[in-house]
Amino acid sequence: PPDVEQLGRATWTFLHTTAAYYPENPSPNQRSNMLSLLQSLPVLYPCTHCATHLGDNMKSHPPDVSSRATLSRWLCERHNEVNEKLGKKKFDCGVKSLDERWKDGPAD
Ligand code: FAD
Repeated sequence: PPDVEQLGRATWTFLHTTAAYYPENPSPNQRSNMLSLLQSLPVLYPCTHCATHLGDNMKSHPPDVSSRATLSRWLCERHNEVNEKLGKKKFDCGVKSLDERWKDGPAD
């Protein structure tokens, strides 16, 4: 079985970074591909209990792919629900902290 922690860190890095660089005004094609990417996770993510949990979570919280801001926040909130389940600290889902972590780096 995969290393759930290493897989998780790599996957969150990919997802948050992709959301941080997603367009403010995505085209229909970009929206539909982002939706496919996210909806494939509950089906294909190789940590199966993680995938099941995410799928249940996404039923009550469908992804909002209409903009960079809505997608980044949606993803941050889903990640926070996993953090909460694992007893980890919640992350501030404001655009400033998300961009600092996943796009711009800390200001100097
Ligand atoms: P991670 O949680 O991997 O976070 C990496 C970095 O992201 C952090 O260092 C921080 O800088 C940043 N970060 C933290 N929270 C947020 C946030 N809310 N928004 C933006 N950035 C943030 N593990 C399980 O044991 N059970 C599960 O059910 C489970 N489900 C998962 C579902 C998915 C879709 C994914 C991708 C992973 C899942 N994992 C699960 C793995 C788990 O979330 C962690 O990746 C793993 O425990 C390693 O944690 P970590 O403390 O190194 O940091």
